[in-house]
Amino acid sequence: MRIILFGPPGVGKGTQAKLLSSKLRIPHISTGDMLREAVAARTELGKKAQAVMEAGQLVSDDIMIGIIQDVLTSEKTKEGFILDGFPRTLAQAKALTQLLDERHMQLDNVIDMQIDEQKIVERLGKRLTCRECGKIYNIAIDKLSDSSKCPNCGGELYQRDDDKPETVRKRLRVYNESTAPVKEYYKHLGLLQSVSASGQIEDINNAILAMLNRH
Ligand code: AMP
Repeated sequence: MRIILFGPPGVGKGTQAKLLSSKLRIPHISTGDMLREAVAARTELGKKAQAVMEAGQLVSDDIMIGIIQDVLTSEKTKEGFILDGFPRTLAQAKALTQLLDERHMQLDNVIDMQIDEQKIVERLGKRLTCRECGKIYNIAIDKLSDSSKCPNCGGELYQRDDDKPETVRKRLRVYNESTAPVKEYYKHLGLLQSVSASGQIEDINNAILAMLNRH
């Protein structure tokens, strides 16, 4: 199954993608995670991406399409994937269609996760991520006895640089200008379905599972 999780930053794409990935046994591909790993490892890609990410802007289409091309040609995604954070522009969406066409593959589902913008700023201000296992926590909801340590694996919890309120507002502007229009593209292809992303994580996950087109 080939799924895109679509929606603004902070809507919960990463959380839902991780759950779907373990339930459906298909890999979670987060371009944001891949870029953050590159930044941490100080690779050439990381050096190019860091300032752009910290400013809440988009990394160039050329770079992102190159990354996705590598992902789609790897063994890992042969049986399917859950894309989280890609595509973010129309050019990326069209390139993805072309890359899949060349491999005689098709997307099965594009799930648009919807939420109030005000909730996003609130949520991201309270988000902590584990450096080791990538699990995401909300300090207002998850009862963390130690907010520096991941209850799942003991790794260090940190706040992403781009989760500061000013950068979140910038990311939302970029989303509305460059990414939201991509919805029309998938609507025309008959692939877009919407789900409300406020509420309990498991309820949202079940709603997504119920709407997936399966082979
Ligand atoms: P995310 O973790 O998906 O919120 O991504 C974090 C940041 O990585 C974004 O704000 C962008 O700067 C960059 N990024 C991730 N995916 C993409 C993409 N598909 N196109 C451009 N920039 C991206």
